[in-house]
Formats: sequence, structure tokens, C-alpha cells
Amino acid sequence: MSGRTHARACPERTCVGCRERAAKTGLLRIVAVGDECAPDPRGTLPGRGAYLHPVLGCLDQAVRRRAFTRALRAPGALDTKALRRYVEQATVADEATP
Ligand SMILES: [Zn+2]
Repeated sequence: MSGRTHARACPERTCVGCRERAAKTGLLRIVAVGDECAPDPRGTLPGRGAYLHPVLGCLDQAVRRRAFTRALRAPGALDTKALRRYVEQATVADEATP
């Protein structure tokens, strides 16, 4: 954390898992593609986005509370299998980097 040294604060978003606010850059954007939650690490996919810490703890909380369905205004339950796989890989990659 570098504090607020710049005049332009970096944009903050709320994690749909733990509900903590964090810099947008530290969160993973998620969009609904069909009836699936799709990770959008580059933030380029169109549509409504939800933000999540790319960790399984936050993903689990979000899934348990159906936070994605609500945040993405989905008409029904969203499949999070692909997203979970992505987060698992991101977590492993993160732990491998010192
Ligand atoms: Zn979180």
C-alpha cells in the first residue's frame, strides 16, 4: 500500500466476496457470458462487471451469497466453474512469485 500520495486516487471497487474496498487493479473483473461467470482480467469485455479478489476465499463467499447473480443482474444462477479454475491458477501463480 502506497497511501494517497497522488492527486488522482486510483479507482476503488468493492469485492463481492469479502465486501472490502480495494484498488480496482487488485481485483479481478468478472462479467456474465451467457449463464457463466467469466474472468475479465484485462477489463475489456462489455457489460456489467463485478469485482473480486482473485482468491478462493472471496470466490467461495461470493458463490455462497449468490453475489455474482445479484451484482451482474443475472436472471438465474451463474456457473462459476471456469472462474474457479481461473482463480485457482491465479492463486498458484501468485504463490510461486516471491
Ligand atoms: Zn475479497
